[in-house]
Amino acid sequence: MKKIQMVDLKGQYEKIKDKVDASIIEVLNSTAYINGPEVKAFQSELEAYLGVKHVIPCANGTDALQIAMMGLGLKPGDEVITADFTFAATVEVIALLGLTPVLVDVNPDDFNIDVAAIERAITPKTKAIVPVHLFGQAANMDAVMDLAKKHNLFVIEDNAQAIGATYASKDGSHKKAGTIGHVASTSFFPSKNLGCYGDGGAIFTNDDALAHTLRGIVNHGMYERYHHDVVGVNSRLDSIQAAVLRAKLENLDDYCNARRNAADKYDATFANETKIITPARTGNHVFHQYTLKIEGDRDALAKHLNENGIPCGVYYPIPLHSQKAYQDSRYNEADFPVTNQLIKEVISLPMHTELEDDQIEFITNTVKEFINR
Ligand SMILES: *Cc1c(COP(=O)(O)O)cnc(C)c1O
Repeated sequence: MKKIQMVDLKGQYEKIKDKVDASIIEVLNSTAYINGPEVKAFQSELEAYLGVKHVIPCANGTDALQIAMMGLGLKPGDEVITADFTFAATVEVIALLGLTPVLVDVNPDDFNIDVAAIERAITPKTKAIVPVHLFGQAANMDAVMDLAKKHNLFVIEDNAQAIGATYASKDGSHKKAGTIGHVASTSFFPSKNLGCYGDGGAIFTNDDALAHTLRGIVNHGMYERYHHDVVGVNSRLDSIQAAVLRAKLENLDDYCNARRNAADKYDATFANETKIITPARTGNHVFHQYTLKIEGDRDALAKHLNENGIPCGVYYPIPLHSQKAYQDSRYNEADFPVTNQLIKEVISLPMHTELEDDQIEFITNTVKEFINR
């Protein structure tokens, strides 16, 4: 059996090495290192894949969120509602822009933002909602969009973990995650489902005017050379990363299927385990993480797995509302029953595109044996 890794970037690279190496060398020879033809080509290929009018590449997923919020014209004091159970980047940019983050609880089954909790948190100052499509599965976007419409709010989808997932709307349409709200962000960090070999990110929108605004913001607020119409930032995807992303985008559906197949195998072996709750699937899940809930000593299980050469992760061990940087006297522990419980129960098993059957079998056997002893 091959050594088990949380994410096997090497194994994935080996399979596309010839193509990736050749296109990187082409970029080196072209000297168009920034905003070269590779970036433009990747942009249109991703627009076609997602079925979205505009993709605006940028330097990373955190910048993408920040630029999206800047583009919507959110102002200091505006309240932005997001999930308490996620990576800190989301709340970080809200705070950095002088906006007021308002954290709300999530659902116990799919770990995504609880729409009833969003509704309770809306005040006259609320301007936007940021649903995070956590672990590879879209949040309840029909309900989020209905609520946003009712209260005249912007919706910014944080799609860093769910690129390639589709969302089945109650109106019968199937849209890619990240193309439903007013604007969305994603990350191409190496371990993400579509990862490059450095940092990268992108913003998506179907709104032509907003796309124009965003393209200026990523480039120092310039719409015409040396005319700075708005305060912008410097946030670029470089051509080498775009070349890598083009090679990987061709395989993204296969990558999603490989992750889903691994998840199916995990699900099937844990199906009859009463102390293990497998991840709920509310739709098309692309399994950025495969996250179980464990009844029992989660930390002891994590230690046991590590001792047996099986890496695992706890995403996330501390709710954002309990983080020093994001404390707010308006929060009440009683508002976060689900997050406060999830942080004690969740464990993420190895999940990537290169998992082999004997590895999955060893992982599931080791988990079951420990849970039932
Ligand atoms: C990874 C991630 C980000 C940040 O992306 P970077 O490219 O690392 O800046 C933002 N939100 C979520 C939910 C993420 O998982």
